Amino acid sequence: MSLQYTKERQAELIKNYETVLSTVNKAASEVSHHVDLIAVSKLKPASDIKALYDHGVRHFGENYGQELIAKAQELPKDIKWHFIGGLQTNKCKDLTKNVENLFAVQTVDSLKKAKKINDTREGAVVNIFLQINTSGEDQKSGLSPDDDEIEQIVEYAKDAEKINLLGLMTIGSFTRSHSEGDNPDFTALEQLKEKLDSKYGVDLKLSMGMSSDYVQAIKQGTSYVRVGTAIFGERPPKV
Ligand SMILES: *Cc1c(COP(=O)(O)O)cnc(C)c1O
Repeated sequence: MSLQYTKERQAELIKNYETVLSTVNKAASEVSHHVDLIAVSKLKPASDIKALYDHGVRHFGENYGQELIAKAQELPKDIKWHFIGGLQTNKCKDLTKNVENLFAVQTVDSLKKAKKINDTREGAVVNIFLQINTSGEDQKSGLSPDDDEIEQIVEYAKDAEKINLLGLMTIGSFTRSHSEGDNPDFTALEQLKEKLDSKYGVDLKLSMGMSSDYVQAIKQGTSYVRVGTAIFGERPPKV
């Protein structure tokens, strides 16, 4: 895997990244809330990541286990990797074992997976986000906002040594992400946060907002936005 990039490609990536970042920062300052921008690099070459890394970017998001593992092994170890893809219980161990600088797994949607991550991790603590299916669409992963398992995971995470429950994540419906005004998926995630925060005395962070709707997500209180296309351009199809 080559980490070599051209000056032209780096200039393009930096321009895109800085455009998104300044939009993020402006929206964040309007709500007086800190927001981290995660550059979603799935299906993009490691050289693209290196080009932004050399510009100072550290938070990157990946969707496919083997791709993340291969990139993490080549790229600098102070990258903060976010796994944001569909998670299978029997694949948790591959991530915890092979990605030493795994910052967060954002797609935990069962107690079993939370346990698997905790039990197989030997290095640094891994942050987890509970993925919530706020739109209730069949094809979307995630726990339903009223599922009892959510509180079971919160309870479990309190005493778990190798995971830290950092927050809640949603993708939301495509239609809602392309509509004006408050997004009901984001409202649902925010309401779940309020409920859990007051019940458990925690301050969960939210991860919501992608290329098409990250400004709206910031208005509705997110702490992390996950932006791919607006930074890296259109993705090739997954083979
Ligand atoms: C691909 C992906 C993103 C980034 O989507 P863009 O529309 O390209 O910004 C964000 N979150 C998740 C979970 C993704 O799978």
